[in-house]
Amino acid sequence: MDAGVLYVSIPYRTCGHLCCCGCGHEVITPLSPAQWSITYDGENVSLTPSIGSWALPCRSHYWIHGGRVRWSRRYSAAEIAQNRERDRRLLARNSEEHRPGALTRLRRHLQSWRW
Ligand SMILES: [Zn+2]
Repeated sequence: MDAGVLYVSIPYRTCGHLCCCGCGHEVITPLSPAQWSITYDGENVSLTPSIGSWALPCRSHYWIHGGRVRWSRRYSAAEIAQNRERDRRLLARNSEEHRPGALTRLRRHLQSWRW
């Protein structure tokens, strides 16, 4: 992957990019109602919620909004644990439901946007 590019794969329901701090680590953000979602306004993409690379040495935390990177504060160990627990609950709840989802009908291979 190239730095500064957000890769979006609709068939794999996944986005990927290199960590915005420049450390070079790959950041994979699965797309699902319990994980991340993207919006595209015709020019730029936004990814929600924020990206917290707690497992990386840099512990970067930022938003990709309107094609730009907005840095957020670093979380404390307690906040990270709280976030992980919430994510785990959301995922567990989400996997119990069957959702067809509009995006699954969209068959695009790979697109990228530069910010
Ligand atoms: Zn980093």
